Amino acid sequence: MTGKSDFQSVRQLLAAGDINCQDLTQQYIEKINEGDKKFNAFISILGEMAREQAVAVDRKMAEGRAGRLTGMIVAVKDIISMKGTRTTCGSKILKNYISPYDATVIERLKAEDAILIGKTNMDEFGMGSSSENSAFQPVKNPYDLERIPGGSSGGSAVAVSAGMAMSALGTDTGGSVRQPAALTGVVGLRPTYGRISRYGLIAFASSLDQIGILSQTVTDCAEILQVIAGRDDRDSTSSDQPIPEYNTFLSRDVKGLQIGMPSEFFGEGLDKEIKQEIDKIADLLQNGGANVREVSLPHADYGIATYYLICTAEASSNLARYDGVHYGFRKDHLTELESMYTITRSQGFGDEVKRRIMLGTYVLSAGYYEAYYRKAQKVRTIIRQDYERVFKTCDIIIGPTTPTTAFRLGEKSHDPLRMYLSDIYTVSAPLAGVPSISVPIGKDSKGLPIGFQITAKPFGEGQCLRVAHWIEKNINHQ
Ligand code: GLN
Repeated sequence: MTGKSDFQSVRQLLAAGDINCQDLTQQYIEKINEGDKKFNAFISILGEMAREQAVAVDRKMAEGRAGRLTGMIVAVKDIISMKGTRTTCGSKILKNYISPYDATVIERLKAEDAILIGKTNMDEFGMGSSSENSAFQPVKNPYDLERIPGGSSGGSAVAVSAGMAMSALGTDTGGSVRQPAALTGVVGLRPTYGRISRYGLIAFASSLDQIGILSQTVTDCAEILQVIAGRDDRDSTSSDQPIPEYNTFLSRDVKGLQIGMPSEFFGEGLDKEIKQEIDKIADLLQNGGANVREVSLPHADYGIATYYLICTAEASSNLARYDGVHYGFRKDHLTELESMYTITRSQGFGDEVKRRIMLGTYVLSAGYYEAYYRKAQKVRTIIRQDYERVFKTCDIIIGPTTPTTAFRLGEKSHDPLRMYLSDIYTVSAPLAGVPSISVPIGKDSKGLPIGFQITAKPFGEGQCLRVAHWIEKNINHQ
């Protein structure tokens, strides 16, 4: 929003010797120290670590062996492990937990000389759509401090939107990269399940969790994806599909592309102004030589129910490890094992996490497993088949990222069902295992950002980036 400097121009300044990484890093640390008093996007600012890294990168530059992300200032969602730093997941239960190792994505970013500037605020364990469910106070939207920035990667989105980082890592289980990206006016990519290693990512819902990228431009997003994508022997769910050169997609136009607009994404509940803006982009694509037509994803309406059954079930199992023994917080002065578990968990987890553990335990329980969990798995398959059918004749699917622009702080926090509905357009891509990107396309009459969502076939990140980049380039010339 303010004082954005995109990576491509910084790279030129670095190459020309007009700035060095140490000065650049210092500028960003100052921006965070000053700006984040308003936004609360960071849980930890890694000033000292970032400065040390910058010294090393400057040395490498002088020796002509600096990596491809030299000068990229990156913020990291506080659910991704980074050696020697606190990784809280936005939870009191991990308030003082220090990661003993680096996640693979962190190793890869460091190896290419990105500067890691801080760990960002989030909904506890990724559970939320507003970044209000944090044990570290809510994050504020830079476009209106009375409004939420989306979630759960709200801190990462705001770091980028407010120019406190050039890009950020987030995680997207049901929309947590794309939805906050849309509400804060930045680019947000959720790659295909398996495209990026999750080693070192703390689990929320394992069959859905994926690390994603938030950035100011589509080009920057492609650069980061290139570095962090790919097989990792430490994550058996990571894929060995070949990684294309993503920037080759960026120079391509949209001529001849077959584009589907699912009618289910344009029904009741979609804000009129958002619909208008999406229609304008559909026309722009059509005029650019693409063939845009209506398609149907008939089971999209079951997305929210299916997603919340599966993610709560998986969360209840993943979160069993926070028992006061293995990690993090334990209530003091307790002498008896069972009450130590109960009291630690009651005090360590926030309300939304407890709600999900209860829901998840219920849907997995003997009497209800068939009726809920098993049925949700079947519907998930049907949702995936809807996508497969559309992708037989379409290259990409487009639509809104969110049904509304940013809502007010507190507006939905006491009504979980309304909160869950803000994910209505983002949950089906993770259920289907396909990649999806949100790109900013303008503002509503209140001046709040609107996001446009582009979804492609599995491992079609290149197509997402291609179309998003084309829109980014052509949008001002309408
Ligand atoms: N808002 C969704 C949820 O609360 C998605 C969260 C996510 O993608 N981590 O579960």
